[in-house]
Amino acid sequence: MDKFEVLKKYFGYDSFREGQELLIDSVLAGRDVLGIMPTGAGKSICYQVPALLLPGITLVISPLISLMKDQVQALKQAGIAAAYINSSLTEGQIAKALEYGAQGRYKIIYVAPERLETYGFLQFAGRVELSMVTVDEAHCISQWGQDFRPSYLKIVEFVRRLPARPILSAFTATATGAVKEDIACVLGLRDPQVLVTGFDRKNLFFAVETPGKKDEYLLRYAREHERESGIVYCATRKNVEAVYELLSSRGMPVTKYHAGLENEERQANQEDFIYDRKPVMVATNAFGMGIDKSDIRYVLHYNMPQSMENYYQEAGRAGRDGEPSECVLLYSPQDVIINRFLLESKEPAAGASSEDLAAMGERDNRRLQVMVNYCMTRNCLREYILRYFGEYGSGACGNCGNCRQEFQEADVTKEAKAVAECVLEMRQRYGINVVAGTLAGEDTAKLREYGVSAYHAYGRLKGWSLGGVREVITQMLTEGFLGQTQDKYALLKVTAKTRELTEGEAKLILKRPKRDGAGQQEESGTSKGGKRRKSDILNSRGLELFDRLRELRTELAREEGVPPYMIFSDKTLVDMCVKQPFDRGEMLEVSGVGENKYARYGQRFLERIKSLTGGTKEKTYFGELDEAAAGEPVRGGSGAWGRSGRGRKHYR
Ligand code: ADP
Ligand code: ZN
Repeated sequence: MDKFEVLKKYFGYDSFREGQELLIDSVLAGRDVLGIMPTGAGKSICYQVPALLLPGITLVISPLISLMKDQVQALKQAGIAAAYINSSLTEGQIAKALEYGAQGRYKIIYVAPERLETYGFLQFAGRVELSMVTVDEAHCISQWGQDFRPSYLKIVEFVRRLPARPILSAFTATATGAVKEDIACVLGLRDPQVLVTGFDRKNLFFAVETPGKKDEYLLRYAREHERESGIVYCATRKNVEAVYELLSSRGMPVTKYHAGLENEERQANQEDFIYDRKPVMVATNAFGMGIDKSDIRYVLHYNMPQSMENYYQEAGRAGRDGEPSECVLLYSPQDVIINRFLLESKEPAAGASSEDLAAMGERDNRRLQVMVNYCMTRNCLREYILRYFGEYGSGACGNCGNCRQEFQEADVTKEAKAVAECVLEMRQRYGINVVAGTLAGEDTAKLREYGVSAYHAYGRLKGWSLGGVREVITQMLTEGFLGQTQDKYALLKVTAKTRELTEGEAKLILKRPKRDGAGQQEESGTSKGGKRRKSDILNSRGLELFDRLRELRTELAREEGVPPYMIFSDKTLVDMCVKQPFDRGEMLEVSGVGENKYARYGQRFLERIKSLTGGTKEKTYFGELDEAAAGEPVRGGSGAWGRSGRGRKHYR
């Protein structure tokens, strides 16, 4: 077999992606490789395909038990003999796995780095033919990175002890300059073929929303994405509980995860999510490491995270399968306060001097500011992210909330003055809600209690929505015309700069989405992006078919005890709806259907497709069939979104 045959037979794909081929060819030529590719780029194929072609065993070193399990399960589904060895197994199971390994029953074995120095494992490794050692999440070896794992240093010693040096391959999604050097150097890669494909995740749509009422926005969003899998990240456990209650009280299939839950409950909830029994997860950032669920269609941040590093990692859990997915951040100025509070109450690093602590505090604040600016910018969000990580994009990606939104500028200096005067009149004793409510002339129990109608400012911006006034205030905060106390009350304060506004020296310009008018209407609160999902190429008939096939997938997943996405990806199902295969040959044409998957599930899908279509192929998609329908997204250029007309569902 050659690499193409392996790709087709086991994975069901017709061609390699950018970069995969280069790395695979290098390995097959006996050269070390280092692949730095973003999540979802297809790193696994880069070592799994050569592993099947090399004579001996490939050892994959991976830091997370759940990832190993997931990978091995997926390989077995594809008909590849694989095993993992880690602390989740009993000693007896480990001995058995090593025995089978020595008999040559596995082509690929996953191990935790700690295992490498144990006597039993070393003995095993010295006895078998090891063709390649692959280091997954290779950035863990670098002390410069965020996720340094001392146990990764054991890899070097392990390789040195082997009777023959195997090929070394290393992969990671996150490596900046220093980390990259470190990987190659510390691991002792020899003249490695290095491939860096950049951070950009073309299939992810980024947006920031500033809804007046996050709960309303969230409910609407969750409803609009009803049958999809998503993660809602919250800053605190309390928020997780509240959001979880909110969604589950409306009958949505949600589960939750945070460090305050018992281990067992966390485990059970995580499984409910992975197996799609509860496809929506509400969680703190404690959730996600080692989650390989590839069909997460959205990651919604209910609060702004503390840094771009965190945000990109969390948001990046969407769309690992390469299908269009959304990353929406719900921002409110309150988030800054929450995060300051969280940062301040963080355990100080052990043994850190006071200077260290001060420096760390400063770094934390800088990172927070980067996030605030991300939330405030009206320029391309993707560009903003890429630049932060040291790359350049096209300047305007066309696939983020800002690129898809037309703005118009409004001079709100007059309104800003009114806000400043209101804050002063109220003697700086209130936060954004009360001030905005007062100016908008709201009549709520709380405002009555504060007696705000006695102020001159009361109702001064009547005609403006609460959201509109808040937006003016937010902009004032961003530009420093107002400040907030750093406690949980976040009282609005005037600043040295406030006078520039009140004395007419400065202006405040608000860039507002065009469709909203100048803030005088009730805000719409819906996603600017609209949805353009994989299934957008399907017409209503196609969608119906897609739903039926998803049901079948769920049935099979239950029978087999594996997560649905491991049977076939959404993308594969879409391709199936487009091609409507009626026999084995046609089924094997579908992207993602390899021979083993066919043997396991092909018949059931063929039967279902036949019975659903009555045996005649129907037109299930819009427009002409092009590569977009053939499984892989269109690459480069304007990407899968750029095609005119179809697949774009515009602003609501
Ligand atoms: P990574 O480890 O880089 O995050 P994965 O290896 O999990 O990415 O691959 C992401 C997805 O892309 C998987 O669903 C995988 O099957 C798919 N994929 C990888 N290579 C190809 C290819 N050549 N053609 C089509 N799909 C591919
Ligand atoms: Zn953009």
